[in-house]
Amino acid sequence: MNDKSELVVVAGAGGFIGGSLVARLRAQGQTKVRAVDIKPLREWYQHFPDVENLILDLNLKPNCERAAEGAADIYNLAANMGGMGFIESNKALCMLSVLINTHMLQAAVQHKAKRFFYASSACVYNGDKQKTYEAPSLKEEDAYPALAEDGYGWEKLFSERMCRHFHEDFGLYTRVARFHNVYGPWGTWDGGREKAPAAICRKVIEAKVSGKHEIQIWGPGTQTRSFMYIDDCLKGIELIMNSEILEPINLGSSEAVSINQLVDMAEEIAGIKLNRHYDLSAPKGVNGRNSDNTLIKKYLGWEPCTPLRTGLEKTYRWIHGQYIARNSDKASTRQESAVAR
Ligand code: NAD
Repeated sequence: MNDKSELVVVAGAGGFIGGSLVARLRAQGQTKVRAVDIKPLREWYQHFPDVENLILDLNLKPNCERAAEGAADIYNLAANMGGMGFIESNKALCMLSVLINTHMLQAAVQHKAKRFFYASSACVYNGDKQKTYEAPSLKEEDAYPALAEDGYGWEKLFSERMCRHFHEDFGLYTRVARFHNVYGPWGTWDGGREKAPAAICRKVIEAKVSGKHEIQIWGPGTQTRSFMYIDDCLKGIELIMNSEILEPINLGSSEAVSINQLVDMAEEIAGIKLNRHYDLSAPKGVNGRNSDNTLIKKYLGWEPCTPLRTGLEKTYRWIHGQYIARNSDKASTRQESAVAR
């Protein structure tokens, strides 16, 4: 366990999970938090005046040294990432995140950080084990023999191993969690990097607001996944960071659903029914994937447990608020320019 007055660094704090982690650390009474991201502060999902907020490009080693200075705990959540639409067409960019993790690990050793957390992904798993639609439950050992998601998944697998060897060779206390699809409020819901739950909520909201009761679904809709609510992700990060688990471990829900079932839930929350159109040429990822939680239950006596329906409703309501606010901003900007003309 860490001392509440020691410095905790969150890399990628302008993003979805990093921002939520900073909020949680503050709520738990952590008094010194340093939040780091490459984006300008106005683009962060959450930021707080009592936190040291730094805008730094963590691809660069001197910036990682600045970020890690004086840190007891480092959480590395900075990466180039997005949903399938993004990672399938930005493989080189995704792989370049290896610079962030390499330099952050080196800086952690240099500054004698006590603990280092790395956010890996279910995309490390062997693609051959994810060919059926019946949501194969993936055990940690299923990452090998290696056949990870091209680009993004290989970078995660390589960085996992770097964490392991930094522990073995330099004595850095590293912890690695393989996140399975995280969703919730304060995340990306538009613009091309959003993942399935947020994209589907947004499309259902658009259909409801516009009155055009149509929805386009990527792939056949029979692909299966599990989705972990952000609160479970944050609790899991804390438990794993405080554990003795040396190997990468699954952090995901084991409630698998098809994309069609996910759409059913979003429609039910919105109180509408939509005509579904399937875009079979759109990126859809593997056919089936679920999290096998045997190991996390064994080590921690816990697993992510928020029902998808509960988490999706909270996410839908948040995205709805963002959507309405954005549209009214656009409408007032249009009005202002009309007046100016
Ligand atoms: P996110 O895109 O919302 O946050 C990542 C943040 O990293 C962004 O704010 C981005 O600006 C920042 N970043 C990127 N390059 C940077 C750089 N060079 N220097 C500093 N900051 C940089 O993503 P997220 O959903 O919060 O994901 C956090 C971590 O969890 C990532 O490592 C991601 O790969 C991993 N992960 C997420 C999911 C998920 O479902 N969200 C699933 C598996 C793994």
